[in-house]
Amino acid sequence: MRFRRSELAAAVLGAAAWTATEYGLHRFAMHEMRGKGLASVEHLKHHADVTYFSPASKKLLSAAGTTAVAWPAASAVAGRRWATAFTTGMIATYFGYEVAHRRIHTHPPRNAYGRWARRSHLHHHFGAPMRNHGVTSPVWDKVFGTYQEPGVVTVPKRMAPVWLLDEAGEVHPELAGDYRVKSGRSRDAAQAEQDRADAFANLAPA
Ligand SMILES: [Zn+2]
Ligand SMILES: [Zn+2]
Repeated sequence: MRFRRSELAAAVLGAAAWTATEYGLHRFAMHEMRGKGLASVEHLKHHADVTYFSPASKKLLSAAGTTAVAWPAASAVAGRRWATAFTTGMIATYFGYEVAHRRIHTHPPRNAYGRWARRSHLHHHFGAPMRNHGVTSPVWDKVFGTYQEPGVVTVPKRMAPVWLLDEAGEVHPELAGDYRVKSGRSRDAAQAEQDRADAFANLAPA
């Protein structure tokens, strides 16, 4: 199958459309809904417990749902071939986002982009849940005025990603300019309850 230039452009546009969708879903369907609806519940559970990720079945459901909306709409505007390329670009970038988001929580940064993505997203988790909704890009936060420079991100020790701390429980020296940990409460049942309440109220964990 040969690709036309218009299809390549459609795929790139689809990828860009994903970044806007990522922002919109994360801000409005997940945070502003405060636990109304499946997407919001699943996401705020991830805020309450950062090791929780929604199961793949639910992701596939949301990808299928997105396709069911995006493809017919694009097809009506620009034809089937164009719509297929657009939707492919969008869904591929969505899966790229899923991988990137998980890696933010599980793997240390390897380059300047990875460093930015971790600082920005962990600031969203631990500093300001109503800021920095874009996980893969700051563009839409900047457009809509929700971007905040992460500064030095303060991470509650009970929620620290595995890559952040050394065996002594201190921030790795090469990351000390970007993060500090606060000890405080351990993760017992009462604290888990409190973390859940804070997450569903869009408050940073205490
Ligand atoms: Zn996250
Ligand atoms: Zn969030």
